[in-house]
Order: sequence, then structure tokens, then C-alpha cells
Amino acid sequence: MQAPEDLEPTVRIRELKKDRVNFVLGNVDLAFANSLRRVMMADIPTVAIDMVEIETNTTVLPDEFIAHRLGMIPLISANCDEAMRYTRDCTCIAGCSFCSLILVLNVACHDDNTMNVTSNHLEVIPFPQMDIEGLLPQQDDVGEEISKRGEYFGYPVGKNEPGRAPVLITKIRKGQELKIRCTAKKGIAKEHAKFSPCSAVSFEYDPYNKLRHTTYWYETDIKGEWPLGENAKEEEPPRDDEVFDFNAKPNKFYFEVETDGSLGPQEVVMKGLAELQTKLANLILGLKSGPDHDMASNDVQANGHGPVIDTPWTAGTTWASPNTAPPTTAWGGSTSPSRGGGASNSWSSQPNSGGGGGWAAGANAGWGSPDRRANGWNV
Ligand SMILES: [Zn+2]
Repeated sequence: MQAPEDLEPTVRIRELKKDRVNFVLGNVDLAFANSLRRVMMADIPTVAIDMVEIETNTTVLPDEFIAHRLGMIPLISANCDEAMRYTRDCTCIAGCSFCSLILVLNVACHDDNTMNVTSNHLEVIPFPQMDIEGLLPQQDDVGEEISKRGEYFGYPVGKNEPGRAPVLITKIRKGQELKIRCTAKKGIAKEHAKFSPCSAVSFEYDPYNKLRHTTYWYETDIKGEWPLGENAKEEEPPRDDEVFDFNAKPNKFYFEVETDGSLGPQEVVMKGLAELQTKLANLILGLKSGPDHDMASNDVQANGHGPVIDTPWTAGTTWASPNTAPPTTAWGGSTSPSRGGGASNSWSSQPNSGGGGGWAAGANAGWGSPDRRANGWNV
């Protein structure tokens, strides 16, 4: 018989709907299942309103309140990976049709009834052709992004879809008006939660708690007070005299992925797996490149997620603080001063400790990126 670790991973879809998928992932370990969950929540790009210019607002809500509500509205982002550029990667200076979308909201109430301003009032307009020199993308930039967009790319989810309630932005009464121009951009949820395509991602494993990863609190009857969930039907119940297996590991995970409509559940899972693969490939590349590799050009470092691999974690090599470092000091870079030098731009619980102690930053130390611009996400 094959050992469990030699088996190929399996996926069995139990339910697939427009905005959710339920599947069973088998023959993977807990770390992988959790990585997939986290990647789906935080690393899949979508489009969301990122800048709001308010021309008129005579509603009861202040400008920033409305701007925040607009940012949270899910916009249709199918194939966003290829259909849009990050503004930071674009050759334009102030936004262009490759990296930005323009939505306008222009409503006024003229009768005595209270009027709901909703996401259905948001209109996507063609990107205005600005003739200011230097602001548009470079002449030789022939992006294919626009041709990869669907008909309703950037529209609020469910706009004018019968039977689907729109997102309420505010309510206005007679004489009140809202006139707004929004710029939507591509981003991921590590920058701002509004970019997350998922409203919920969860998985369960070991429904009988055979592995004892959970300790149930109960008063008198553990079975009566903790009824089994649906997923328990998928597994063998433990025998009453079953001996606890210290070496058992979970290998079956019951996933439920629910999206906000900006992307379909199928796209979220597939892109999640692809993103995870890319991250791991970058990590392997970083490990193979060895200690002499230029860390600034290392993909693992550029993504800001990987530990520095050539420096062991010791008392003298820790994080530099991103908040208190002067602008010229990169995170964890070799320019960070040591604590002994009297500079106070590092975290410390022992202000008087000698050089090298506490939270001082040593050369190449810590988790930071050596380049502030590269610090962060998918740059
Ligand atoms: Zn652009």
C-alpha cells in the first residue's frame, strides 16, 4: 500500500454556485491547506475604487464616509490579472486606460420621497483622453490589457441585475445632491481589504477531533453539547476504545470559498493555486541562488515575504523598525545603525543595553526588504 505522503493531491467539488464553491482537498498537509486559504483571501488582484474626487456633496454623510463606502463596493474584476496593470507598473504618470477605470456618480433628489443612492447609480465611463504631455503612457507602450476585459469589467457587481439588491451608498432627500468622480485601480488585499475577492474562506478538518487539535469545553455531555457537522459523514467515526495516535496528521480538508462577486469562485481557487506556485518557485529560486546572491534583486526579497536566508537568527540580528527608521534607512538593510551607536531609531525594550543587544538591526538582518520601494507586495 502506498504511504499517504506519496499520494497525489485530490480535489472533489461538492457544490459550485455563482458565488461559492465547496470542495474537499485531500492528500495535502495542513500547512498547504492554510496557505491556499490565505492566498485566496489576500493575494488575488481585483479592481476597486481607490481615489474619489467629490464635486458636490450635500448629503448627510461627510465626504470621507462616502469615499470609504465607495471603496468597499465590489467591482467586476474577471481576468483582472491580465486585463489591468498595477498603477506602479504602468508607464503613465497620472493614471491611464491600462491601469485605471473611471466611474461617476451623479444623483440629485427632486421630489418629496427619500431616495436611495446605490451602486446601480455608478456609471463606468471611457477613460478621458488627456492631451497633457508626459502623463499618458509612453508611445511604444502597446498594452493588450483592454482587449482582455469582459463587457462589464469594472461595473459594480449586480448592477441592474434583476433580483439582486444593489449596495446602498447613502440616502438623500429633496434638494440634496451627490456628484462624484472615482478612479478604480488594481490591487490585492494585503494593501487594502477592499481588494479581497472573498467574503469568506474557511476549511474544516478532522470533524471527530481524533487528532485532538481542539479541546471542547462542555458541562456534562460532550457529544450532546457538540453535535457533529455535515463533514463528519465523510469520515469514519472513532471507536470508543480507539488508542490516540500521536503520529496521525490531517490530510482531508473541507473548504468553503465564498466570493463577493468581483471574481467567480472558480477563478479565485485557480488563481490562488497559481499564486501559491509562484511564491514557492520564488522561494526555491532564492534558496538556490545561495548566500552571495544580490538580495536587492532577489524575487523572494522583493516580494517582502521571505526571510533572509544567509543570516541565522541571533540575538544581534533582528528587525529594524519601519516606522522609526529615517527615510534613508532601509528595513533591515546594512545601513541601519546599531543600538550601540546611540541612534534611537530602532525598537528596544532595553534602552541602555550595549551595542548589538535588543532590537538593533545588523547587516542583512531580519525579515525586511532591503529596498523600501520593493517592500510590500507583488511589485
Ligand atoms: Zn497607467
